[in-house]
Amino acid sequence: MKHILKSIFFGSLAILAFACKTEEAEKTAERPNIIFIMSDDHAYQAISAYDNTLIETPNIDRIAKMGMLFTNASVTNSICAPSRATILTGKHSHINGKVDNHFPFDTTNVTFPQILQDAGYQTAMFGKLHFGNSPKGFDQFKILPGQGAYYNPDFITKNEGNIKVEGYVTDIITDMTLDWLQNERKADQPFMLMYLHKAPHREWLPAERHIDEFTNRTFKEPATLFDDYSGRGRAAHEAEMNLLTDMHWSGDSKVYPEVMDELGIEGTSDWDKGAFDREVGRMNAEQRANWDKAYMKVNEDFKKAYPTMTEEDKMKWRYQRYMQDYLGTIKAVDENVGRVLDYLEANDLMENTIIVYTSDQGFYLGEHGWFDKRFVYNESFKTPLLMAWPGKVKAGSKSDEMVQNLDFAQTFLAAAGIEAPSDMQGESLLPLLTGETDKWTRDAVYYHYYEYPSVHMVKRHYAIITKEYKLVHYYFDTDEWELIDRNKDPMELTNVYDDPAYAEIRADLHKQLDDLREKYGDSSELSQKYIDMYLDDLADRKGFFGAKDTTLVNKIFENREGK
Ligand code: CA
Repeated sequence: MKHILKSIFFGSLAILAFACKTEEAEKTAERPNIIFIMSDDHAYQAISAYDNTLIETPNIDRIAKMGMLFTNASVTNSICAPSRATILTGKHSHINGKVDNHFPFDTTNVTFPQILQDAGYQTAMFGKLHFGNSPKGFDQFKILPGQGAYYNPDFITKNEGNIKVEGYVTDIITDMTLDWLQNERKADQPFMLMYLHKAPHREWLPAERHIDEFTNRTFKEPATLFDDYSGRGRAAHEAEMNLLTDMHWSGDSKVYPEVMDELGIEGTSDWDKGAFDREVGRMNAEQRANWDKAYMKVNEDFKKAYPTMTEEDKMKWRYQRYMQDYLGTIKAVDENVGRVLDYLEANDLMENTIIVYTSDQGFYLGEHGWFDKRFVYNESFKTPLLMAWPGKVKAGSKSDEMVQNLDFAQTFLAAAGIEAPSDMQGESLLPLLTGETDKWTRDAVYYHYYEYPSVHMVKRHYAIITKEYKLVHYYFDTDEWELIDRNKDPMELTNVYDDPAYAEIRADLHKQLDDLREKYGDSSELSQKYIDMYLDDLADRKGFFGAKDTTLVNKIFENREGK
């Protein structure tokens, strides 16, 4: 009897153990791989799944064809490193502390890769992070130092120290990614891979193979290329993002420094010629010869045309030069995304893999006469987002819901069946991805930009954005409110804040904005804390980074001392 009981007991244990093991194996099999592809400053206007006026991106578009295109995705703070911090932490800038590009990321923050790694995911990151420190929670990483370089870039690596790799950055980051998938990925673990491009970040150096094609193309100008900012307040007028007056002739538009001297063109800042030497100066002899072949011609044509160019002609010329180089770098991104998708298909990795393509924010491609980002206006507030998950997300679907970079962390944790920490501030996108749209209730998002005074001089502002309106407060060395009617004024040219017809809407939005600030824990005290940190640091350095109009900056410091 004892013997029988004993065998039943151990038999049950064995069954139990078997059951657990099966459950565990099933759970592991169910847990999806995650490939997070992000480019730097890639505007949705330059992805053909959104709009093919400027460029065809057939490979990036494949992700939308396999899955979902989000037409209303946005960021909480439109600048590089803060966006990355929000993605990793699932928290707004004022909570994770990474409010601007200046101070390093606080690594005591908990990030979703750390949580996934603890839960048994194999994790890797290749490309641009831009944090001022190395990422936590990664089994493998090879990242660019700071902004990184387009040609023959340096990398900070987890296991090989600092290395320099010969070649073009977008190809190299992809080579590293494919090498990891092929040689380091473990078949018995789900993986989370962050594949992060530097392109199409300034100063926009296309790969050798694309230079000739793109320097010979002409692109359609945006309707607001010659915006005079009437209808908006000081923030738009005082920003330094104009293609003609704020873009570097040499570093950005690739006018050779000696041609600038010959034509008597003064640089837009001390950095103008330096940026050219810093980037083009890295090329080896062969790369430089290929570069010169195309760009010498650009310079020769420019030399002939310049003496008779009007200011309008110059603006148009700079727009074309900007688009040729910016879009040229995107061509290589698209080709390389294609290489990764091909690899996944060829190796049966498509089925249970979430594939994301996004950017750390949007970008102005000449709209409002601008380049760069920072403002809550659409081109920089919105960001591309394409997500595939074959079998789970309906192919070719679309969502116009207001999703944000704040939502990635909780989405990935939910997909992996892990409960997110309660202090994360986003929402899982799974209901939208799997068609349970009634579970999605968000009707407004919050935005807060901080980095001022700084390069491009975009004033500090916070905002509430609904599908119909934007209510924006520019503060610090100004106190201006802006109300945009998104449906009636899609190009965002007119502030209707003082229009009596909007009095009720304005009052309602103010109330909603207060509620949102309370919900996310933002306040004027926190805003002041970040102003003090920033100005203390600037004062310590006794210098100022990047502004052309130093009178504004001097005034800020005078007022501060007078307080
Ligand atoms: Ca960026």
